[in-house]
Amino acid sequence: MVSRLSPPCEALRKQGYQFFAPDSSAAVKPCLWCKKALKGGEMCYKHQFYGIESHRCVQMTPTLRCNHRCLFCWRSFEHEHPSERDCPPEEILARIPALQKRALSGYKVSPSVTGERFSQALDPRHVAISLSGEPTLYPYLPELIDLLTARGFTTFLVSNGTSPWILKKCRPFQLYVSLPAPDHASYLKICRPLDDFWENIRESLALLEDRRSAVRITLVEGLNTFMPERYAQLLQDSGARYVEVKGYMYLGYSRKRLNREHMPEHHRVKSFAAAIGERCDYCITDENPASRVVLLERVP
Ligand code: SF4
Repeated sequence: MVSRLSPPCEALRKQGYQFFAPDSSAAVKPCLWCKKALKGGEMCYKHQFYGIESHRCVQMTPTLRCNHRCLFCWRSFEHEHPSERDCPPEEILARIPALQKRALSGYKVSPSVTGERFSQALDPRHVAISLSGEPTLYPYLPELIDLLTARGFTTFLVSNGTSPWILKKCRPFQLYVSLPAPDHASYLKICRPLDDFWENIRESLALLEDRRSAVRITLVEGLNTFMPERYAQLLQDSGARYVEVKGYMYLGYSRKRLNREHMPEHHRVKSFAAAIGERCDYCITDENPASRVVLLERVP
């Protein structure tokens, strides 16, 4: 008999998560920007920064498991299923179009969705492995990414950096490592990790040189909006091509842990990004106030 996922996963299903199988937490969930773009509206900052078309982007995760309990995470921490099955990469690849179609089918009847855009959305070109959970805890991640690449998808992999030995084997189009804090003590306070992974994160950051890569910093007002010089040093050592400094958004389950005042205004995000940039070889090249995100690029 197939064991079913726990009731919290049922709650996620109601929020629009499409699970690949009843006994797996691998899931797809189109983001707000995908739906906006489908209706001919604005696309997300990844279109502005990197040319990704939002309505042709699949936001997914191969697992909802995570070894962090970040205060700013939008997921709940109660939905992990100890006996969940890891879907094989071939199963994930095969089911992506059907799940994306199911998730978007309600939009077909909208007068602002053209037939052409809807067909394009059902033929996605990009996979963002970034929905929720830590993808390196899925045992077949390198194989999944290689399979997606072989099928012509571009891939963004977003990791919390706790498993550098897995990241070494992954070849996504663009690799992200999150840097949640400027120092060890703040990391423990903000991410509440199941083990102390700070040195692993530093090791993962060091893997970013000489490849298409980005560091993601989520700024939570008062919790990690200090010591720009420490961030600068970590970025300088990483050699990543891009840095995204993004304001925390008061969304999902994070509202149970934080409050609205933890969301920095865009001008705060920008001035903090500038303060980091002044202290290392990165400079601001773009920004998107709607998403409260600032892009820095490494100066050659
Ligand atoms: S690492 Fe990501 S998925 Fe895990 S708790 Fe933190 S924000 Fe959530």
